[in-house]
Amino acid sequence: MTDSKPKPKKPRGVARLLDGKCIACGARCQSSCPVNCIEMTETGEPIVETAKCIGCQKCIKICPAVALEMYFTEAELKILAELAAAAGGAVVVEEQDEEGAVLARKLAEYRGVWVFVEQTEGEVAKVSWELLGVGAGLAATLGVELCAVVLGENVEHLCGEAFAHGATKVYLLDAPVYKHYRTEAYVEGCCHLIEKYKPEIILMGATGMGRDLAGAIATRVATGLTADCTGLAIDDKRNLMQTRPAFGGNIMATIMCDKYRPQMSTVRPNVMPMPERVAGAEGIIVRDPFTVPEESIFTKVIEIIRDSHSKSAVDITGAEFIVSGGRGMMAPENFALLQELADELGGVVGASRSAVDAGWMPGDRQVGQTGKTVRPKIYIACGISGAIQHLVGMQDSDMVIAINRDSSAPIFEVATYGIVGDLFQIVPAITAKIRELKQKNT
Ligand SMILES: Cc1cc2nc3c(=O)[nH]c(=O)nc-3n(C[C@H](O)[C@H](O)[C@H](O)COP(=O)(O)OP(=O)(O)OC[C@H]3O[C@@H](n4cnc5c(N)ncnc54)[C@H](O)[C@@H]3O)c2cc1C
Repeated sequence: MTDSKPKPKKPRGVARLLDGKCIACGARCQSSCPVNCIEMTETGEPIVETAKCIGCQKCIKICPAVALEMYFTEAELKILAELAAAAGGAVVVEEQDEEGAVLARKLAEYRGVWVFVEQTEGEVAKVSWELLGVGAGLAATLGVELCAVVLGENVEHLCGEAFAHGATKVYLLDAPVYKHYRTEAYVEGCCHLIEKYKPEIILMGATGMGRDLAGAIATRVATGLTADCTGLAIDDKRNLMQTRPAFGGNIMATIMCDKYRPQMSTVRPNVMPMPERVAGAEGIIVRDPFTVPEESIFTKVIEIIRDSHSKSAVDITGAEFIVSGGRGMMAPENFALLQELADELGGVVGASRSAVDAGWMPGDRQVGQTGKTVRPKIYIACGISGAIQHLVGMQDSDMVIAINRDSSAPIFEVATYGIVGDLFQIVPAITAKIRELKQKNT
């Protein structure tokens, strides 16, 4: 005779929030929930609708602050104890846990933070050094090496520069086939290095080259890529938290790639601070002999022709002083006021998108999400309201001076100094004062 008593079903429990632990990370728990049982409060904390919760634990696993836990009723705890006793006291290993262990082992094969050093004819894009700066912080948190990846022909001298900017190791592919950037050759070279040395994070500049290469590599190695990140950090499970504007810049989204390696991000120039250069710093160069047969590459670079327009055009990204104008300038000729002030400061004139869209300033002067990211010593915003899409492009300036006649304009929230008033009076007054001070000092 068999025992007809049915085995009780293993209770799944429900998720619940622990008091005071939530860090309002950006609703990661909510987006992970497969049954939409999590609502967010105005302060960004989750409210779990327990009647709908299926106890899948996805929100608990994704929470970077360990602010959620599983909750079981007394009756459920009793059933769990009975099941454990029936299993001889052994811990019941869930299928899910086994999957998790396999994944953890796979992810653990990847170690190290890599920065792709973008060079054209031996000249390095400065964003690469900025990325070594942010990469150093990530590597220190993870307790791993910060490595640079250099591809080119006769580019070994760039390894020294990479060490000076914080790398401790450089993977070098130096061969004629890498002389000029070509997607096929660089993808093959980088994928070879990735498959051989297995980095857990790869950072690239969000430049024309970086965007092209990063997308192609991510597709080849079947991993995720987050473009145009404005913030990078590590959570308590070694995952890279990649923050970037989303939905037209109205929210900041933190994106994770927690099941695949490497984790790949691109970052625009000037978003991250430049690290201090340590002359004479040394490290290890790994010279990998891997090359790609020239005949397998369809693209041939015949000549590099520098864009003469871009040489003569004003580069607002490198300026130390920027005087920017928005819709409050009212007309294109009024930008002459800003030019006068910029000339006194030795700076350049920038613009909001409204001013560019109105045809008052050329597109290469636009600051913001769809324009340039700038990080000058002083940014003077004149007649600019401070929409989030503008702020993301200038809020990391060392000092922001805002001039606006509307005291509630959002630009004042990021301003070091705010002047409420009519820019047509204030800007000429500042210019005159600077001239006066300069004359006194000569
Ligand atoms: C997907 C997307 C991407 C975008 N990308 C960008 C971007 O890269 N860069 C960008 O700038 N915007 C961008 N925008 C547009 C952005 O949302 C705003 O519309 C824009 O920044 C507003 O420009 P503004 O501040 O010049 O104009 P407004 O918002 O119209 O502000 C004009 C300001 O001038 C002040 N003012 C008027 N007269 C005077 C005076 N005499 N003296 C002093 N103050 C005065 C007013 O009080 C007001 O605050 C983007 C929008 C979207 C949807």
